[in-house]
Amino acid sequence: MRNLIIAIVILAFCIPLAILGFYGTSMPTSIEYLQSDKVTEATPNKIAEVPIQHKVVANVPKNEQQKIEKTITKKTKKKKVIVIDPGHQRYADYRLEKVGPKSTKWMPKMPASTYGVSTGQAEYALTLQVAEYLQKQLKREGYRVKLTRQEHVIAMSTKERADFAKKNEADLYIQLHADGVTNAQAQGLYVISPAANNPFTKKTYRESQELARSITASAKKKKVTVYKTGQLHSESLSALNWATMPTILVELGYLNNPTDDRRLAQKDYQLLLAKSISQGVKAFDSK
Ligand SMILES: [Zn+2]
Repeated sequence: MRNLIIAIVILAFCIPLAILGFYGTSMPTSIEYLQSDKVTEATPNKIAEVPIQHKVVANVPKNEQQKIEKTITKKTKKKKVIVIDPGHQRYADYRLEKVGPKSTKWMPKMPASTYGVSTGQAEYALTLQVAEYLQKQLKREGYRVKLTRQEHVIAMSTKERADFAKKNEADLYIQLHADGVTNAQAQGLYVISPAANNPFTKKTYRESQELARSITASAKKKKVTVYKTGQLHSESLSALNWATMPTILVELGYLNNPTDDRRLAQKDYQLLLAKSISQGVKAFDSK
């Protein structure tokens, strides 16, 4: 009788083990599922298209799961999204909006464009043209790029443009303008980024400033005319205040300076500006 009980106990253990053993060899483990998932290598930037979110299925120890997830995250690194804002629009909008979240100060929803002192070119047309060149350049580098506007006649406020960047989950928000109001003796490109004491951009100002420096350096390298250090920090610019991601505002040159105005009207120079900014973004990104 005792022997019989021992035999039953042994069988009770062995049969399930045998069944497990059989299925264990024929069914793919969760690791195999993960490895068989398609991860397509995409751009020269080693950025890959991201397949649907992976879920690790049962039976893999936690630390193993984390290892696998890490590998997958590396391989499927999302393409960075860059939103470009071609500054201004055909008609100014003098209705007011706040200069930043919870601010008590107000300014026009969209200030007027400036015009070239020699050529008469409009700032809103120049910024869209350079934005389109820049979009092409950045796409070639493997980024996903969106423009806040593609037309001249549009009503889109400063805040709405920053909101567009947020809605599109932009990693970087690049705004293009051309100066036409300050020093008419001055020439060249400069980049405005948030100052350290800008209360609206505490979390992002460092990266923004770094991006600004990278773009100025790239412009100098490409022999673009740069105004002084090419750097300016602002604690009050509403275009920067509303952004929730690193942002910069590039003043491409001075439309109220005859030499700069003529230069800015040339396609070759516009392409050079786009290339400089694109290379600056790339250099910033690979740090
Ligand atoms: Zn402007």
